[in-house]
Amino acid sequence: MDISYDDFIRTTDKERHWPAVNYFWKKLEDNGDIYPEKYKGYYCSGCEDFLTERELVDGKCIYHNLEPELVEEENYFFRLSKYQDKLLKIIEKGEVKIFPESRKNEALNLIKAGLKDISFSRSVKNLPWGIPVPGDNSQVIYVWADALVNYISALGYGDKNPDKFEKYWPADIHVIGKDNLKFHALYWPAMLMSAGLSLPKEIYVHGFVTSGGQKMSKSLGNVVDPFEMIQKYGSEALRYYLLREISAYEDGDFTEEKLKNLYQGDLANGLGNFLARVLTMALKMEINARLKTESSVAEKIKETSKIIEEKMSDLKFNEALAAIWELISFGDNYINKNEPWKISDSKQKEKIIFNLIAILEGAAEFLAPFLPKTSKKILANIEKSENIIKVYRGENLFPRI
Ligand SMILES: [Zn+2]
Repeated sequence: MDISYDDFIRTTDKERHWPAVNYFWKKLEDNGDIYPEKYKGYYCSGCEDFLTERELVDGKCIYHNLEPELVEEENYFFRLSKYQDKLLKIIEKGEVKIFPESRKNEALNLIKAGLKDISFSRSVKNLPWGIPVPGDNSQVIYVWADALVNYISALGYGDKNPDKFEKYWPADIHVIGKDNLKFHALYWPAMLMSAGLSLPKEIYVHGFVTSGGQKMSKSLGNVVDPFEMIQKYGSEALRYYLLREISAYEDGDFTEEKLKNLYQGDLANGLGNFLARVLTMALKMEINARLKTESSVAEKIKETSKIIEEKMSDLKFNEALAAIWELISFGDNYINKNEPWKISDSKQKEKIIFNLIAILEGAAEFLAPFLPKTSKKILANIEKSENIIKVYRGENLFPRI
């Protein structure tokens, strides 16, 4: 998928992660938010959590369709209830902006239904690989104060050298799946408040990808292998599908049929064809680089840029891409309207080609974050010097498959 990362850390990292978790736990403890208590509850191994009444239907977890087990233990608890009013205020006012709005409301409803304190540790017998509770070796720290703290342990929280933590925290945005809402919108901010740390500015909650209208599952045999799709269609095509076809806010559906159609339609016939048309006409021409872009063309590019900026600030990738394809079809219409092959006046023809290259270049630049390889390949076909623009016919971006 051509995705890279700056750092990689696991919660098993005893040098960077474990000391940070210890430090964090003690902060919460010092603040009086951790206490021991015996309790009993329905535990779902899929959720790795105890379920509330509302999360049980016919005795099964609504997320995993699993029958939970009744568990009784003495553990340490975190006073989540203490933060109920603060959480409500912070989320309502958008101090932590949760979007889309439907997820924000879901979080608010969870808070309004009443927050109970949460179990924060397990017996070492059940979780032998866990991080020991400071001062009590019979208990290990449960997932909340372990996994969530990974966000800041990776930045060196609690370390002698807090440079990265001070530079990067609070996070501008947490990107999470809808099944993680409760942990990131309620537990994590409450824990951060207890530790006296700043809260993430935004939480973006995306949906699930279904396969042929159904949840992907081994028993249904509809699990899509992304590596296989990349081998057949290329990483750019799969990126395009996920960003364009899957709504940024709701669940989206994947089928190979639709991927094939998008590949042929939007990529090969849409973008690929526009590129080929422009390059074919401009080939062997030396175009004056000092010409001015026609006002209708300049305006269209500017308008596209504005729409993309707006859509991206709401992370509506699909709508940002739609705007780029609008620009491409504007370019196609520009060719059809001007019919440059019929023009004998070479100056006139040069102007039209100049405008087309401006559209192509604009589209390629807008595409950079979405289809980085495609963007680079398009721009590599255009050679610009101070006075002259020349184009080359590069490889076919989206060959027939
Ligand atoms: Zn579950």
